[in-house]
Amino acid sequence: METSTEGGAAAPAGTEPAETTTRAGSVAESAVPAAGATTPGTTPAPVIPAQAPAPAAAPAASRRAPARPTSLSPSRAGDFMQCPLLYRFRVIDRLPEKPSPAATRGTLVHAVLERLFDAPAAERTAPRARSLVPGQWDRLLKNRPELAELFADDEDGSRLAGWLEEAGQLVERWFALEDPTRLEPVEREMFVQTRLESGLTLRGIIDRVDVAPTGEVRIVDYKTGKAPRPEYAEGALFQMKFYALVIWRLKKVVPRRLQLVYLGSGDVVTYDPVIEDLQGVERKLLALWEAIRTATETGDWRPRPTKLCGWCDHQEFCPEFDGTPPPYPLPLALPFGAAGSEEDTQGRMGPQ
Ligand code: SF4
Repeated sequence: METSTEGGAAAPAGTEPAETTTRAGSVAESAVPAAGATTPGTTPAPVIPAQAPAPAAAPAASRRAPARPTSLSPSRAGDFMQCPLLYRFRVIDRLPEKPSPAATRGTLVHAVLERLFDAPAAERTAPRARSLVPGQWDRLLKNRPELAELFADDEDGSRLAGWLEEAGQLVERWFALEDPTRLEPVEREMFVQTRLESGLTLRGIIDRVDVAPTGEVRIVDYKTGKAPRPEYAEGALFQMKFYALVIWRLKKVVPRRLQLVYLGSGDVVTYDPVIEDLQGVERKLLALWEAIRTATETGDWRPRPTKLCGWCDHQEFCPEFDGTPPPYPLPLALPFGAAGSEEDTQGRMGPQ
């Protein structure tokens, strides 16, 4: 879950950007200012508490202040693996990005699926879920008035109506994939945060956590896009393994199942992790964090052009598109090039 950058334009199948959904109250990247078969949880189960409450949304002014990275979320880890310069623009420069209809629709669908569980189990029907769409859109607009610009030129309201209908269809498709009358999530939109022994803080928001009567934990994430092709499946599972690592560190329990629910294509992808998977993710995150720290201290943020550049809001600042990045806003602790070659640092962290 988190920020969703489903592409608005067409892309080759399997090359869409990792879905990230910007939720109302979602986790802003932590930074300091410069200077298969299912395992339904059907009975009451112990709540897995978040280590810290979700932070309130930061005021727009503070979001824009340049910042030094202090923690990693799955979305921002994915940004760095995709393109270090994109990571810089988002986390350090905090350049504004335009809301997109696709990402906002993802946010809306997540909100509806979360709120549906407020109702008694027997009332969690598709018509009821659909009926929540307009109200959740109004709520979203209230929290994020800038989203109104998405439909500012929609004079007769037809585009908005079609967009809401698409959201309703995605919500309805969910009922073919899961049965909410048989689920009692112990957590929805669960903010999690943990600090590894190395000092690296991991954080994120998990869409849904189910706990079976046997105590087995299932982590569920909704995607409003399509399931990736098999060769890209590992990238999609990275976010889930990240959350599994956080839960393991917080609760000393390895989640039994990771489940991705793709509403766009009607697919459910599951993976049952083992400790070795989570240890591997931790090693990868530590190497990633080291590369981010090195780039932060040297100011050496290389662009890594891919097909995903088509979705990047920052081409005007990107050398790959004849742009010039804004002046680096942080003090440099290391001279440029002092930390080794690109292969030594950023280059080894290519998308996996
Ligand atoms: S346009 Fe492409 S290479 Fe440039 S910053 Fe964006 S993602 Fe990176």
